Amino acid sequence: SRPVRLSVQLYPYGDGRRLLLARDVTAQEQAEAMRRDFVANVSHEIRTPLTVLVGFVETLQTLPLPEDERARYLGLMAQQSARMQHLVEDLLALSRLEGSPLPGYTQWTPVGLLLRQCEDEARGLSMALTRVHGKPHQIEFPDSPPGADLGEIAGAATELQSAFSNLLANALRYTPAGGRVVVRWQAHADGSATFSVQDAGPGIDATHLSRLTERFYRVDRSRSRDTGGTGLGLAIVKHVLQRHNARLEVRSTVGSGSTFSVIFPAQRLRATALPAPAET
Ligand code: ADP
Repeated sequence: SRPVRLSVQLYPYGDGRRLLLARDVTAQEQAEAMRRDFVANVSHEIRTPLTVLVGFVETLQTLPLPEDERARYLGLMAQQSARMQHLVEDLLALSRLEGSPLPGYTQWTPVGLLLRQCEDEARGLSMALTRVHGKPHQIEFPDSPPGADLGEIAGAATELQSAFSNLLANALRYTPAGGRVVVRWQAHADGSATFSVQDAGPGIDATHLSRLTERFYRVDRSRSRDTGGTGLGLAIVKHVLQRHNARLEVRSTVGSGSTFSVIFPAQRLRATALPAPAET
């Protein structure tokens, strides 16, 4: 049993009696504390790159520097600006999710299309990530022959795309150059289906698993920053999945890698509708 916070007030109630009014404000206080934490976290996340930027700008303004050093500083400034940009994009994505109506069953997104978009994005990101260290990742996608029908998911295509991309981006960011990342789509007998991303990253200790989707929760702060993480990726994933009645499952072994799986319930899935036959 958790402690409950009560707000208590006493009112005069005739003949010297008092009326005691107690309100349970536990949830209200928790929400307020979460909001404060969130603002503190965002401010901290923005302050760090901003401090670096301001420092470099002042240096460039005041010191005559050789060209190569100037170029190096400008490169670092570009990096920090990009980091702030990603953070703002993720914050906006989260607030848009919170403000928009729940995705219903009027829009159907072909799984094959989602996977193809993921694949293009993954190969691009892998190239960008491994440019410095050489060897790109070995990325495997289900090899669906052209026209193969993986069915459709009821929901918002852009949201689903962003959830899948976030999982894939994490797998690539946490897997060293040359490592293997495997994407799967598995349909189950009961009509449900699983999208999963298996990586060869550092793995995550079981003690962290339940907190991964909290905003700004990080297992290893410096590593996440090095790889360009905002700390909001899995929070976005969680939101999108909740909105689609899907759930996230994480299996991980420290030292060998993690598998993030998204399980869609049967009600969100259907076989691709056949195109209407051409008129003769
Ligand atoms: P970040 O931008 O920091 O990666 P996320 O919300 O995407 O934020 O993930 C939260 C934390 O979960 C990360 O900081 C990292 O510690 C851990 N994590 C996420 N995905 C993986 C993965 N594939 N392998 C190892 N750790 C991961």
